[in-house]
Parts: sequence; structure tokens; C-alpha cells
Amino acid sequence: MHYFSTNRSSPRVSFRDAVLGGQPPDKGLYFPEEMPSLQVEFLTRLRDLSNTEIAFEVIRSFAGDSIPLETLFEICRTTVDFPFPIVPITENISALELFHGPTLAFKDVGARFMSRCLGFFSRDEGRKTLVVVATSGDTGGAVANGFFGVDGVQVIILYPKNKVSRVQELQLTTLGGNITAVELAGTFDDCQDLAKRTLADDELKQKARVTSANSINVARWLPQQFYYFYALKQWDGAPPVISVPSGNFGNLAAGIAANVRGLPMKKFIAACNANDVVPRFMRTGDLEPRSAVATLSNAMDVGNPSNFVRILEIYQNVFRDLKDKVEAVSISDESTAETMRDVFQNHNYILDPHGAVGYRALAGHLAKRPEEKGIFLETAHPVKFESVGRIVGTYGDVPKSINDLLLREKESIEMDVDYQDLKDLLMSKV
Ligand SMILES: *Cc1c(COP(=O)(O)O)cnc(C)c1O
Repeated sequence: MHYFSTNRSSPRVSFRDAVLGGQPPDKGLYFPEEMPSLQVEFLTRLRDLSNTEIAFEVIRSFAGDSIPLETLFEICRTTVDFPFPIVPITENISALELFHGPTLAFKDVGARFMSRCLGFFSRDEGRKTLVVVATSGDTGGAVANGFFGVDGVQVIILYPKNKVSRVQELQLTTLGGNITAVELAGTFDDCQDLAKRTLADDELKQKARVTSANSINVARWLPQQFYYFYALKQWDGAPPVISVPSGNFGNLAAGIAANVRGLPMKKFIAACNANDVVPRFMRTGDLEPRSAVATLSNAMDVGNPSNFVRILEIYQNVFRDLKDKVEAVSISDESTAETMRDVFQNHNYILDPHGAVGYRALAGHLAKRPEEKGIFLETAHPVKFESVGRIVGTYGDVPKSINDLLLREKESIEMDVDYQDLKDLLMSKV
């Protein structure tokens, strides 16, 4: 399998080079030349297969011959070694819980898969690999955890000061070792802009391999297909409507990829908070990035969603095909909080604010279509967000890892939005 750039002015590359490069030189995103269809035989046998076997089958054509099959199988096995349960909440709404990994958010899947691929690719490299990652909340912890202690890899995490939760901040600032956290006096979009600049910096690239662990990296993006298959493996009846709480749109783009490859899903709902660039686009056909505004679902506070172009690419830019399959909704903070209270009072289920956006968007869709059933992605554990305590009054059962985390000391480097400062830091790491 080869990867081309969505801007179409960079050479095609292998999986290995797409992962190591992160982003093509023309600043587009890497995209696979094909979305290979999956065999009907595989799709109808999901129930008989282990999660590792499913992951392996889903990803193998994308990795091509960049990774030996036994190694790839082992990468899959250690990536998905935690549960992905479907939990029914109402008659027609279920949660797909994606928060049972080490940092309690769905990003563990992509981050673990990518760190293992990169570990494999860096093995024979003479020089260091610098992984530069911008986070709006959960990416940082997942990436830090995935890469911690990986030889030859230095990880720099950029996060917006005062815009991530306490648990999120501790997850990305307490590991030490090869992980450095930079606390930026700016927004997530500022972090993302700086991270992108490092990838295009020739001087830096002469010293080290520079790559990104953001969802723009294909090794983060593509494995996010896995759990859509795990959902369907646990599902009886007609294809579900799938509601995906969305910020940078990597998760939804992966679900849509799974669907066009043959996994049956009736419809997708792009569930957004007040950052409504995509819902606007679906109404007007104009994609107009804006500055991000802060909301309760802070990991979705993105004003310029980088992965949306991959969704357009999957539908070959045919707006009508996109509109047939994807509905986009913007949910206010008020409605998010009300949903969290309601669902706890009436169904005894604790939603985190991101899951609540997904739930609410799905409930709105199903209210007009009583014959349909749906699944929303519960993308993070409620304990990661202080707002849950404030709004719902309880976090439910707190995983033990959290209690240990709360005793640790934060370590970060404070920085203004200044590329040169960041570059100086990176140069000191190689
Ligand atoms: C990152 C994140 C999202 C948004 O996912 P995208 O792939 O960026 O759309 C939603 N919920 C949580 C908890 C997240 O961490």
C-alpha cells in the first residue's frame, strides 16, 4: 500500500515513510491509495474472532510490507489488550466504552499502535526520533504512555495552559524520562500550528527524524477503525446509527473508512460542541476554520479540524454522498450538562462531557426515528473531567491508576507561542 498527499504535490510513500514522516512536505495529509474492501466472510464471522485477529485483518493491507506479519500481529495484540464493551443505556441507545485503556480514553488505541510501529521502524536508525505532539487533552497522556521508555525516541508534548483537566495534565506531565511536556500560553490550535512547523523545519530534520503523533499520522488514524468492528461484533439486529463526539475528526474518519470497506452502519452523526465548523459546512458547503472556543468537552475544542479532509477524500469530494451518510450536530454546553444530569438520574449512567455530546446528538436523531437504534462512542472515562463531579455529583468507580496519579508532581516547561523557543528546546533534545 502506498500513501499520497491530500494536497497532491508530494511523492507517494510507503507505510513506513508515511509513519516516520508524519505529514507530507506539501502540508497535506497522507491518505492510502486504496480503501481495500474486506471479505464478506470476515465481516460475517466477527463474533468468532478475537479482537487481535480482527485488528490484524483490518490493518494488514495498510501496513503492506513495511512490517513483517508476525510483528504486526504482535503490535495488534499489545495495542488492544483491554475490553471495548457495548453498554445499553436506554431501549435504543448504547455506549461503546472506549476508556478501558491505560490513560482512560480512546486515544490509547491509536497512540499505542503508533508507538509500537515507530519503535519497530526506529530500531535500525542511527539518529534520534523526535515525536512532537499537540494535545487538546487526551492525546498527550496516551502518547506519553505509549512512548514512555521507547529507545531512541524523544517525545515533546505541547498543551494549552489551563485548558486541560487536572487528570489529563498529570497524565502527560508526570512520566519524565524521554517525555517532555510544554505548557503553551495559547490555544490548542496554536499548539497544533507549532507542531506542524517542526515537521517542516529542514534544520531540525537534519539533526533528527521529526514526526508527529497527532491523529494526522496514519499509524494513529487507521487503527481507530478497530473498535467499530468490536461494536458490530457485539451487535444484534439492523445496522446501528453511530454517533461520534468529534473535534479533529480522526475518530469519525476512521469509522467512515470501516464503513466504506464493508462494515454495515446505517448513518454517522458527527457530534460537535460549540465548535461547529463541520455542522456549518454540512449546511453551507463552505469549510471555514475559526478560532476554537472553550467548552465542557475540551478535547473537542478544535476550530480547524485537520482530519476532515480525509472524510472528504473517502467520499472523493462528492458532497451528496457525504450528506447521505453523515449528519453533523452542534450541542451547547448547557445541553451537554443537562444530558449528563438526565442520564444519571434516569438511567444511572455517568457520561463524561464528550460522551454526553455524542449521546445528545444521537438521542436527537432517534427521537424522530423510533425504529432505529444507535451507539455513541464514550470516548473517555468521566473521572478525567472535574466538570463531572460538579454536574453529576459523582465520578462513579474511580480506577486505581487515578489514585496513584493524583499523588504525583507535575513537571512542565512554560512557553509563549513562539516557534524559536520551541525549536531551541527541540535542538537541545537531539
Ligand atoms: C480527542 C477526543 C475526542 C475527539 O476525537 P477526534 O478524533 O479528534 O475527533 C473526543 N473525545 C475525547 C475524550 C477525546 O480525547
